[in-house]
Amino acid sequence: MKGKTESKFIFGANRICLDFINTQIVEKGHPVDLLKNFPDLIEWLTQAHVLNEKDARESLRRWKDKPRGTYTLEQAQSFRAVLRGMVERIVCRKSFLKSTIDEINEILSNRIGYPYLTRARGVFEIRFHKEFNEPIQLIVPIAESASDLLCHSDFSLIKRCENPACVLYFYDISKNHTRRWCSMSVCGNRMKVGTHYRRHWSKKKS
Ligand SMILES: [Zn+2]
Repeated sequence: MKGKTESKFIFGANRICLDFINTQIVEKGHPVDLLKNFPDLIEWLTQAHVLNEKDARESLRRWKDKPRGTYTLEQAQSFRAVLRGMVERIVCRKSFLKSTIDEINEILSNRIGYPYLTRARGVFEIRFHKEFNEPIQLIVPIAESASDLLCHSDFSLIKRCENPACVLYFYDISKNHTRRWCSMSVCGNRMKVGTHYRRHWSKKKS
């Protein structure tokens, strides 16, 4: 996250689907959507390393300022609402909605591509070539990340930032699972400053 402060997006949730939910933030008490148009979506996907530069350029050329691009942004935003509802329920230990699985499967069904074998420095690796023939395919990696979260993660490590004014989520991969803030430089510092002042004043009093 550090060194990329010029980005308007917030990364560091350790899961693509959670970083995607975090494109909706609260600023000065008001909800703000960081995905305002189709190029914003492409920029986010590129910064999230979901899309390479070539596919990003091609997507903009084909769908920027086109009804299909606008529609894809709307689909991404409504899928984001589904994912936010999903993690809210997980964090609150509420039962899982069957409709969430259907929504994720609906996006996943758009995946087109093929696996291919590669070898670099003597090491074999299987990779997947993603096709982006239709703009909806841009959102598929986010659905894949959500599926992966559901299949392979510890739900108790999906956390909401402890700043009550913040709406960001993250997957806690810290050593002792003690992470409390979306970002130390934003909510963590604010809370730390509060603690510092309290200590300062209690010292003065004694
Ligand atoms: Zn926060």
